[in-house]
Amino acid sequence: MILRKKPTVRQNNHKTVAVLNAGVVMFVCAALMTAAPIADQEANVDGIDHSVKAGDDFYRYANGGWLHSAVIPAGHDKYDNRMIMAKTAAERVRGLLHEAASSHSAKGTITQKVGDYYASVMDEATIEAKGLTPLADEMGAVAAISDKRSLSSYIGSTLNSEVEGLISNADHVFGVWINQGFEDSDHNLPHLWQGGLGLPDRDLYLDSSPKMADLRAKYQAHVAAVLRVAGLTDCDSRAATVLSLETKIAHAFAPDSDAAEVSKQNNPWKRADFAIKAPGMDWQAFFESAGLGRQSDFIVWQPSAVTGVSKLVQSEALEEWKDYLRFHLIEHYGVVLPKSAATGGLASSTTANPGEPLMTGRDDTAIAATSGALGPAVGQLYAQRYFPPEAKTKAQAMAQDLITAWGARISKLSWMSAQTKDKALAKLAAFEVGIGYPDQWIDYSTLDIVRGDAFGNMRRAEAFIRQRNLAQLERPVDPIEWPINPQTPGAVIMFSPNAEFFSAALLQPPYFDGNGDSASNYGSAGAGMAHEIGHSFDELGNIYDAHGRLHGWWTAEDRARFKSAAAKLAIQLDAYCPLPDMCIKGQQVLGESINDLAGLLVAHDAYVLSLKGRPDVVIGGLSGEQRFFLSFARRWRKIQTETSLRTQITTDTHPPGEYRADTVRNVDAWYGVYKAEPRDKLYLKPEDRVRIW
Ligand SMILES: [Zn+2]
Repeated sequence: MILRKKPTVRQNNHKTVAVLNAGVVMFVCAALMTAAPIADQEANVDGIDHSVKAGDDFYRYANGGWLHSAVIPAGHDKYDNRMIMAKTAAERVRGLLHEAASSHSAKGTITQKVGDYYASVMDEATIEAKGLTPLADEMGAVAAISDKRSLSSYIGSTLNSEVEGLISNADHVFGVWINQGFEDSDHNLPHLWQGGLGLPDRDLYLDSSPKMADLRAKYQAHVAAVLRVAGLTDCDSRAATVLSLETKIAHAFAPDSDAAEVSKQNNPWKRADFAIKAPGMDWQAFFESAGLGRQSDFIVWQPSAVTGVSKLVQSEALEEWKDYLRFHLIEHYGVVLPKSAATGGLASSTTANPGEPLMTGRDDTAIAATSGALGPAVGQLYAQRYFPPEAKTKAQAMAQDLITAWGARISKLSWMSAQTKDKALAKLAAFEVGIGYPDQWIDYSTLDIVRGDAFGNMRRAEAFIRQRNLAQLERPVDPIEWPINPQTPGAVIMFSPNAEFFSAALLQPPYFDGNGDSASNYGSAGAGMAHEIGHSFDELGNIYDAHGRLHGWWTAEDRARFKSAAAKLAIQLDAYCPLPDMCIKGQQVLGESINDLAGLLVAHDAYVLSLKGRPDVVIGGLSGEQRFFLSFARRWRKIQTETSLRTQITTDTHPPGEYRADTVRNVDAWYGVYKAEPRDKLYLKPEDRVRIW
């Protein structure tokens, strides 16, 4: 799991969106969140390599067959389970949307809405025929901006409510996310985020290197081309002005490093504070058109951005703002406008994340657009088909065993004081786990989706999401509001509220098989889930209490004893050298490795619990415990280029997969199960095995 210090970018709704690092309220686990879908490539042979002794090299013993035959797919620098799962999920979603579109289901059903949304985006002929006409009233609204008040009102009208808490549309000045306060678990509040940059990252505007200057030049050409399509003249100089305005916004942005510090984000502002702390914007007009006219309390995550942008409303010419808004308006709706408008006639967008392959066809675009607008509805279809109630029940039972096992381990800890243990156990008791999909689906009955009206559909879907999110301000905090769609393979840890979510697309083979072997499920998905649960109680999560409020509950003594227990693991990790000239930096990967170990131990406890005293069956000559550890090691199988490996060692907070698999050498039970002996390379004397959780 990684704290995303930099916003990363993915294509969603056919526009570039920033997946914000939601600070220390919420994490996206890099260990579980998937990469982009890959081209055709199937999981290869699963054979154990019997030429390798388990005690010498458990990773190659477990994965030898696969490692010998797996091939890195073209265009990628690595290949692993996450990519296999992403591809499976993407293909399933594709199939579901094609099916929904051709089914012509009864008006008002989820299948009709999803199918007609997708079909409308696919219907390029109709989109081309309509030209920019659907945009006329919005363009008119921009043209009608005549003073600071109307500018503020327009900007307020673009304040989007996020589809997922993880996503903030980068094409709007400010994003809003409705969640409980940092110190108030009784009320939902609007959390205001910085936004409004067309390029994915603040640094891309501020970095003076020739490479970034070139990227900005390409972006500016793109802006000019889009404005030209809108029928404006003198577009080159207008584009330069847009870039200049965005650069000023970028200067006001909080640096990425702030994202790691919750104290920087926890800025409660009263409504009246805006005019005093951030003069320039007509805040009355802004909040009224944003649907927040009656809201008295806010959390401002990046005060510098609010202050800076507000000042720009005052200082920059109206015409410059209007060109900026026109460009972003067209970009925002690009997917449902003629091709020339979406691209400005350029071959490809310059805003795509260089690390991810560009989406190739219209089909991919339409799938992404539908998933962006109607994600939970697509998830409903996904879950109905691919995550039956029996699988959910099985995964929920596993999660319950994991929580019970975590509780037992916490109770026995030697480094945690009795008082701290009480708080940890109270937090565990209040902990909500979402498995697969929400218990309650979103009611889309008031959202009209009409085949052939791609633009109208997108606009209505956005209005629906916004209304639904704003309505949460009137409701009590709901710790089971899902922040991830079921069809997105991933896990989200919410520290505030106190909850974690594991999507249906994550709980699929090879991590979890609803019809498969339980021992393997506990060793793979179980160990992964236990790792994630651990973050709510470790160095990251201990600053949030049982209600998800900012309130640290480790004492200084707990922290010191934890650190000294963990020191031994850092030394063990330091000794791993994947390349002749490059070794793991133990401290860099320590936090994640601690949880790999805790996750494996807890999952093993949970597996034993699940047997309720009965022996497990033997399958393929392997005992349940053998399969448990085998599937743990298989979870980490990965092939990668040397460059990718070097980058991982340098920057990643997780060690390469092989060494994650080697976590087993700290687990007493593994020695008995795989007959590891003192002369084996992985062997550790009992007193040298690391024990933290
Ligand atoms: Zn993690």
